[in-house]
Amino acid sequence: MKEGYGAVIIGGGIIGTATAYYMAKLGFKDILVVEKNYISSGSTGRCAGGIRQQWDSEYNIKLAMGSVKIFEQLEDELGFPTEYYQGGYLLLAYREQDAEWFKRRVKLQQSLGLDVRLLDPYETKQVVPYINTDGLLAATYCPTDGHANPFLVTFGYYKAAQRLGVEFALKTEVVGIQTKESRIKGVKLNTGDTIDTEIVVNATNAWTKDIASMIGLDFPVNPQRHEIAVTEPIGKLFDPLIISFKHGIYFRQEMSGGIVMGYGDPEEPYSKNIKSSFPFLRNIAAKLAAVMPLADDVRILRQWAGLYAMTPDAQPIIGGSSEVEGFYQAVGFSGHGFMVGPKTAQLLAELIVLGKPSMTLEPLSEKRFKSGEIKVEKAVI
Ligand SMILES: Cc1cc2nc3c(=O)[nH]c(=O)nc-3n(C[C@H](O)[C@H](O)[C@H](O)COP(=O)(O)OP(=O)(O)OC[C@H]3O[C@@H](n4cnc5c(N)ncnc54)[C@H](O)[C@@H]3O)c2cc1C
Repeated sequence: MKEGYGAVIIGGGIIGTATAYYMAKLGFKDILVVEKNYISSGSTGRCAGGIRQQWDSEYNIKLAMGSVKIFEQLEDELGFPTEYYQGGYLLLAYREQDAEWFKRRVKLQQSLGLDVRLLDPYETKQVVPYINTDGLLAATYCPTDGHANPFLVTFGYYKAAQRLGVEFALKTEVVGIQTKESRIKGVKLNTGDTIDTEIVVNATNAWTKDIASMIGLDFPVNPQRHEIAVTEPIGKLFDPLIISFKHGIYFRQEMSGGIVMGYGDPEEPYSKNIKSSFPFLRNIAAKLAAVMPLADDVRILRQWAGLYAMTPDAQPIIGGSSEVEGFYQAVGFSGHGFMVGPKTAQLLAELIVLGKPSMTLEPLSEKRFKSGEIKVEKAVI
């Protein structure tokens, strides 16, 4: 590790590693990524790996569509396996309000060029024969949605960034950020070292408040536990990742046959608690059986939990700080930072290195919370 770098990126999840890679690819020299634990040890390594373009807000749809384009050729680009699989996403509406909302959503998504279809219960059964159609009103299906392995994707970016000269300090924590006249000057590490830099990228997501407080700032990004589990492997039951908003569950089948499933409890208080709970096990089993009765007897192998990083509109904050020059961030991804990660990182790298991203990041600027102009992304699960 040197005494100074062109940029220090804090966080070794999908956002930190991918931003480092795209910055280096654009020719930026001297990048240090600092990760207090190991690569993928935060939310990224705990996520379900789902990649969906069926969102409610126009910007999210565009960001996810941009990411899918990247995912489609990422193995070749990084020279690393990603287990990317386009099995689609099937979203189920068992309530009138969801069915009405689905119609509106599909129109917007189709107008942006997404291949997404509104299905009736009969058509839904053609996509997933074992789905419970009792009370089902409608569904939406996008065949180019899918999933990938979050560890492999992040390690792919990590290795590729290293090949481009990016340095990584693992098991190393940023404990302070130095500024002078509202400009970034350096970071302090728990090793006692101080690193000179004029650019800091906060890619810590759920730890955003800790990082922001180091420079006297505060952002409305709060950590919230989300639990998740995987069953024993079973024969192939379905292809797409399935979401039921009424039951509040998402689940997908791994290539190895296990069903990965989770839900977020909206009443869960904000905290960094990532302990697993027994009520989750009971509830998730009941939810899965309600949507896919055939899976009633499947045994759960393992459960774990991780952090969503919640903002008031469930949308991330991406861009440069208006108060401290040289401070950038991409944080507050709610439950969709993995899927929008590649495009987000590419745009953030363009902003930092070229001064202008190829797609505006303005709608996700921190300023929206000050002006009060927020529109909540409703399709979060
Ligand atoms: C149960 C669950 C399921 C999910 N499912 C999906 C899904 O299907 N699809 C999807 O797109 N998203 C999903 N998500 C959300 C997704 O995991 C996150 O949005 C995404 O991983 C965020 O990536 P990141 O790189 O911003 O943050 P992280 O992966 O959390 O990385 C931040 C890193 O910063 C490090 N760090 C923090 N403070 C410091 C410091 N002071 N010094 C050094 N390092 C520090 C942490 O150790 C951590 O490794 C899910 C999340 C959970 C919890």
